[in-house]
Amino acid sequence: MKEPTVVEKFVVPVRSGKAWPVKAGQVCRIVAIEGPQVVDFNAWNLHNPRERFWAARTKQLHHAHMRIFDRFWSCLPYLRPMATVVGDSINYGTDADGAGCHDLLGTRCDPYVHKMLSGEELDVCCHSNLLRAIMPYGLGESDVHDVLNVFQVTGLTADTHQYFVKPCPARKGDYFEFFAEIDLLCAISTCPHGDMSIPIWGPNAAGDPIEICRPIGVEVHGVNPDLLAGWQSPSVATYQGLHGIRA
Ligand SMILES: [Zn+2]
Repeated sequence: MKEPTVVEKFVVPVRSGKAWPVKAGQVCRIVAIEGPQVVDFNAWNLHNPRERFWAARTKQLHHAHMRIFDRFWSCLPYLRPMATVVGDSINYGTDADGAGCHDLLGTRCDPYVHKMLSGEELDVCCHSNLLRAIMPYGLGESDVHDVLNVFQVTGLTADTHQYFVKPCPARKGDYFEFFAEIDLLCAISTCPHGDMSIPIWGPNAAGDPIEICRPIGVEVHGVNPDLLAGWQSPSVATYQGLHGIRA
């Protein structure tokens, strides 16, 4: 058996973004290299950016918090598994408040809502970090989409179903890992709100929480071809109904 090979390895600094390709059949690991830090994740078909991660449908088909063997489904009209979760060292499960880790309930922080709620201009929101990250690939603001919040613990209150966030549980070395089912362009943002241990808005907000921000490591690994025997990259959806549109 050959050992897995490291194809690429890099660190994403605090309050920044990075985009990188992951080829079908490779495994990508996102690592909390210095401790707790929330990561906002986007993905596109490397060869067609109109096909991109569909967070809402993924949430319906699997779980509101991604776990091992959940798949990242792509948007219409493609609708196929782009990637599959294969590793999660946190394995948070569901806590007493009904919360889980690796959040699909929320979305990225962005400078528009940030200004609406705080009055401040902030240029390092995840939306903007993702935008800067994908610009070298010819993509723009409209290509940024609803995210998977890796390492983020969230839930809905039992009585009124209001969204809440808890501090990030990741410890140094914790990781979240996925297998690419198709050639992907991936992007992450190291969220400017760091490990979420200080409220962003509201009466308990405590200023700019730069001290709770940490860098994130990314590793792309090749997989022993023996382990991929019988695996095929999935095709797009086969619906041919043309939506009832008549000429
Ligand atoms: Zn963010």
